[in-house]
Amino acid sequence: MINETNMVSVVIPVFNEQGNLDELIRRCLTTCDTLELPYELILIDDGSRDRSVEMITAAAEAHRGKVIGVLLNRNYGQHAAVMAGFAQARGGFVVTLDADLQNPPEEIIHIVAKMQEGYDVVGTVRQNRQDSFLRRMPSKIVNWIVQKSTGVLMHDYGCMLRGYTREIVQAMLQCPERSTFIPVLANAFAHKVIEIPVGHSERLIGDSKYSFWKLINLQFDLLTSITTFPLRLLSVIGGVISAFGIGLGLLILILRVVWGSEWAAQGVFTLFAILFVLIGAQFIGLGLLGEYIGRIYQDVRDRPRYFVRSVVGLDS
Ligand code: UDP
Ligand code: MG
Repeated sequence: MINETNMVSVVIPVFNEQGNLDELIRRCLTTCDTLELPYELILIDDGSRDRSVEMITAAAEAHRGKVIGVLLNRNYGQHAAVMAGFAQARGGFVVTLDADLQNPPEEIIHIVAKMQEGYDVVGTVRQNRQDSFLRRMPSKIVNWIVQKSTGVLMHDYGCMLRGYTREIVQAMLQCPERSTFIPVLANAFAHKVIEIPVGHSERLIGDSKYSFWKLINLQFDLLTSITTFPLRLLSVIGGVISAFGIGLGLLILILRVVWGSEWAAQGVFTLFAILFVLIGAQFIGLGLLGEYIGRIYQDVRDRPRYFVRSVVGLDS
């Protein structure tokens, strides 16, 4: 019987990664073999449309009990997929990793070592990050927002190469909300946090699985999952704008009395300009409300966060 408290579970979400899977699995297995701890490699297929599913299934059969495939019926997004992996993981030390080999699997060793030292969340900071400017920019904004609203606990929230102890994973599994952002969620339950530097390489095979829209969705997931402050900001901005409008109205009234109606007719365009600003502000406000309400709707419907089609590679 495997002692699960010192077992290492490596959780990897996979979405159309056929070009990376073979090397990924090989490198993970080699790394984990040097750990001298029981381990399991959990690959979650997030509704891939390429050969990823067959490759995961084949690996799970070849390394029964060591490689486990969790197959979801469709694409639910990286964080939901990782949650599905958490639900399957048995180990006391859980490490998450991207499938694209941008995070070297060899770092698993250092992350596990930190957890053995007693840290319950191990974050990583990517040294000289190898992503395009367009991909880095949103991450910069995200890191800034998170740091402002939660205090600077970590510097790099985007990097999914992370370690969580069993207690933290258990706590995260108890969170039913749909729009989760795992690194932020984990910090909510963390007691002792540490960050270690890790290498980062270019994505050699395949493209980033985050399209423009998916990235936007992710940013809002993150924002709405950590804070409702923007909602308050809305009222504040609204208040300021109204005060400004009243002041301006008074000013225009006075000027009209002083300079007569000729002047007022020419001021029409100024009013238009102001009007557009206000309309714009209202739409932004409505949009933000919509982001929260949409997520409330998802949570109220209370559908399962993901649906596991099948699990392959289990021991018994
Ligand atoms: N991923 C996923 N579902 C998605 C999008 C991505 O499971 O809908 C996985 C993907 O296969 C990879 C990880 O999440 O293992 C990170 O994706 P990617 O490398 O495309 O993101 P980036 O490096 O651009 O942040
Ligand atoms: Mg990547």
